[in-house]
Amino acid sequence: MLVVASTALLAAVLIVWRMLAVGQEILPGRAMRPASGNEIAPAARNATSTADVSPGAPHVGVVAGHAGYDTGAVCPDGLSEAEVNLAIAQEVAALLTRKGYGVDLMDEYDDRLSGYRADALVSVHADSCDVPGATGFKVARVTDSAIPEDEDRLVACLYQEYEAVTSLPRHPSSITDDMTSYHAFREIDHYTPGAIIETGFLLDDHDLLLNRPKLAARGIAAGVVCFLEDSQ
Ligand SMILES: [Zn+2]
Repeated sequence: MLVVASTALLAAVLIVWRMLAVGQEILPGRAMRPASGNEIAPAARNATSTADVSPGAPHVGVVAGHAGYDTGAVCPDGLSEAEVNLAIAQEVAALLTRKGYGVDLMDEYDDRLSGYRADALVSVHADSCDVPGATGFKVARVTDSAIPEDEDRLVACLYQEYEAVTSLPRHPSSITDDMTSYHAFREIDHYTPGAIIETGFLLDDHDLLLNRPKLAARGIAAGVVCFLEDSQ
């Protein structure tokens, strides 16, 4: 009787273990992500297939800020930073893909960020919805950069092109430690040039961010192209 019960228990354990193992195959690394905000839409897994990418083409990572994790800032009407970021990041990925680049569109805590190697990585965020009168965008790189000249050039290109395309003013006075010690900068390979852009304030820059995400995306994509075409 005891033997039968033990065997049944062992079988049950094995079945559960196999179910969990299968679950992990379908959703790799999910258990390692922070648990909250599972309702937030993740970014698309891959923006490009390798077949679309010409040999020697630049490779770029685009993080849709907060995707797959939480909402980010939320406006009184329910508009979330995460949805704004995702629309812009998807368009950045599409534009760079059309240019023949290899592109990885990633979630906020994407498993691929660990040791990530590419010609550039840009994380797309937007600023809070509770600062009436605040307008503008800003770009930052990690404080203790291993490649400060490259990363300064990436930041400068993003400033220059985003400003030219969107006509939004610069708002560098509101750059926070959250930006300069952004978690993804610690995760990626230290020789992958990385930058984070806050594309505007959700309240006063709402027209650009919500109604013209393709314009915002054009500014970011042009910044990446400026950086990469200059480095070649
Ligand atoms: Zn954010």
